[in-house]
Amino acid sequence: MVIFNTLSREKETFKPIRKTWVGLYTCGPTVYNYAHIGNLRTYIFEDILERTLVWNGYDVRRVMNITDVGHLTSDADAGEDKIQREAEKEKRSVWDVAQFYTEAFLEDFKKLNIKIPKRLDPATKFIKEQIKLIERLFERGLAYETSKAIYFNVPKFKNYTKLSKQPLNEKIVAARNEVISDPEKRHPADFVLWFKLIDRFKNHIMRWSSPWGMGFPGWHIECSAISTSRLGQPFDIHTGGVDHINVHHTNEIAQSEGAIGKPLARYWMHAEFLIINEARMGKSEGNFITLSKIKEKDINPLAYRYFTLTAHYRSKLNFTWEALQAAQRAFEKLSEEISLLKRNLKRVSAKQNTETYLKRFTKAINDDLNTPQVLAILWETVKSSKLSPNNKLKLILIYDQILGLNLKNVKKPPIIPQNIIKLAEQRELLRANKQFIQSDALRKQINKLGYVVKDTATGSTISKKL
Ligand SMILES: [Zn+2]
Repeated sequence: MVIFNTLSREKETFKPIRKTWVGLYTCGPTVYNYAHIGNLRTYIFEDILERTLVWNGYDVRRVMNITDVGHLTSDADAGEDKIQREAEKEKRSVWDVAQFYTEAFLEDFKKLNIKIPKRLDPATKFIKEQIKLIERLFERGLAYETSKAIYFNVPKFKNYTKLSKQPLNEKIVAARNEVISDPEKRHPADFVLWFKLIDRFKNHIMRWSSPWGMGFPGWHIECSAISTSRLGQPFDIHTGGVDHINVHHTNEIAQSEGAIGKPLARYWMHAEFLIINEARMGKSEGNFITLSKIKEKDINPLAYRYFTLTAHYRSKLNFTWEALQAAQRAFEKLSEEISLLKRNLKRVSAKQNTETYLKRFTKAINDDLNTPQVLAILWETVKSSKLSPNNKLKLILIYDQILGLNLKNVKKPPIIPQNIIKLAEQRELLRANKQFIQSDALRKQINKLGYVVKDTATGSTISKKL
């Protein structure tokens, strides 16, 4: 299996650290709002990654954090705590807000058929571990205290830019543009590990005691504390969206490697943005589309999953409603084909060579999760004139172990009873003779028997009444 490692900017052969299991850490949501479909694209990518590791025979230990404290309205240290701001707006407690949006997030996972990670760890459950890590950073001379906060001392840590490859002076320019409210901060790139309850945070509700007084953790430290507590250090793969490379993941590496003196993770993988009107999707960008909005438009969430798989996870994906509707049609067509296959299954399976298909499928998915290629192989299988229905279905359900489109639940079309078919045929004749009153009477009779006739350009169809 080959994966693209952001650390080396190259495709590398995946070699697990341990023989018995693979550690996978995936940065989770900040639960102050619904996830938008751009965020969800990243979680679908991570689901495909986990399924592919399992396909390759690995026992995957996956961990995801839930950020319920300390993520400020800027990814750096400016602004307010997102959850507290939302709680004030909604007039609810911060704990309610976190709970509510965590549940909404997991609902989205279910609708998209994303496997929910076994370990789902809220930052507020790992306060002790975060404090311990900060103490280690003090011991190693990598942290310092001001009257407002505890900071990570960036210039003291070698290799700070090893993931981002962004020169520190560029980062400083970016940091200067933030509202710097602490004159005791030593270097513009230094970031907060722990906030004290003064000035803008005097009334911060979530608070814990620490060696530096009451306060709450900065955003990045939770991932360092949770990942290492659950998976050890180093672990195998760390993932997130590309927006995490320059700040969040760079800071995670500095904290964890600074404190422990070992690499944090061997491979770093990042999913590209979903683009809408040339801009990334985001709340501040004002183009926020949630999964419920998609459902309101009668689009199956799994059609959105299908849509994201048509692009490689490292390519930007352009979102338009038209493109999503096209994906929905393709997904419906696929379901129809499968439902027909299910009707045509034979008792005895023909002996055919399906190995070449399986080999091509494995090669595609093991080549840095090439899902567009896998979809192409899927359609080729569906349309093959050589494969029997049994073998087609068998292959499709194997591909779906990775694609996760829930294809095994596609139903066989209901069998329409002979008497209904006869009535429908008589009706067709009457219609052809323009005997509309009589044909309409038959339509009503069919309807009474529990079936619906619909006239289309290519003739009429019968289906069971819902
Ligand atoms: Zn993280």
